[in-house]
Amino acid sequence: MHVVVTGAAGFIGQHVVSRLHAGGATVVAVDRHPPPRPHGVDALVGDLAASDSLPRLERTLAATDAVIHLAGRPGVRDPDPRAPRRRWRDNVLAAERVLEAAPPSTPVVVASSSSVYGGAPDRPSREGDPLRPRGGYARSKVALEQRCTARSRRGALVAVARPFTVAGAGQRADMALARWLDAATRGAPAAVLGGLDRRRDVTDVADVAEGLVRCAVRRVAGPVNLGTGVSHSLAELLDAVTDATGSRPDVRVVPAGPEEAPATLADTRRCAELLDLVPHTDLTALVRRQHLARTRPVEVVTV
Ligand code: NAD
Repeated sequence: MHVVVTGAAGFIGQHVVSRLHAGGATVVAVDRHPPPRPHGVDALVGDLAASDSLPRLERTLAATDAVIHLAGRPGVRDPDPRAPRRRWRDNVLAAERVLEAAPPSTPVVVASSSSVYGGAPDRPSREGDPLRPRGGYARSKVALEQRCTARSRRGALVAVARPFTVAGAGQRADMALARWLDAATRGAPAAVLGGLDRRRDVTDVADVAEGLVRCAVRRVAGPVNLGTGVSHSLAELLDAVTDATGSRPDVRVVPAGPEEAPATLADTRRCAELLDLVPHTDLTALVRRQHLARTRPVEVVTV
């Protein structure tokens, strides 16, 4: 199988490329930053949102068996005044280019986000639920999903993956677990948004990579949650950080903005039905692995 992976230099992208490569696929890794490349993986380096960049992209997309589109501008919090424009370029315009260039029968798997639900106050979020984006990041993902719907209305294949808080080796430095592991290691305080009773469905990046690959292989159409159906309080996340590092950081509670959902939780039934996969997170083991990987290269775990 020949697969194009965009956002291949990023946290999830590196795991997806390694998973595909280990499974014998031929991979073209696309990113604006040079992706780390296992032997035999080809790379295209450039900006998907600039039409004069990546001149080989359209030809490559026309000839591939599947596309896993992860390139984007993640992060719910971004106080930079340029954030709305950057999110539009990287989350919407970059995807438009990929969605238009991939032939209709080519499965395209697009990374949206659980943030489109705006939280799960009383029950797990289902794929058919109305979308209630709370901030600019989530709104840009809703706009992305609208482009995906337009592709499927044209009769073309597209799966919309909605990952829930992804954790593991190489997690982005702006995410809570990565920040708290760093704080615990340095003996610095850990900033906790809103309070320790807030809850997150934390998903192992190995499960997310497996789910994305299965979406492509099984030619899934429509939205699918990539989450565990179990949520953890931020207090539990902090306990896992303490276990992994041997040191408990002091907690500084800071006000959470309106873009922060109090709780997230995935309904996993569609994922189980379509992908034969229900992600499972052993929080203590996952945070230990993430911590160990801070001093070692990313190690990919397949499920
Ligand atoms: P990341 O920032 O580590 O990776 C994104 C990659 O996309 C980066 O390497 C970046 O260089 C590349 N990129 C961005 N815009 C580009 C452009 N215009 N042209 C070329 N390359 C570009 O992020 P991640 O955590 O690996 O997330 C991957 C995707 O999954 C994102 O779309 C994100 O919104 C989504 N997602 C992530 C999580 C999570 O918990 N990490 C949860 C839900 C959804």
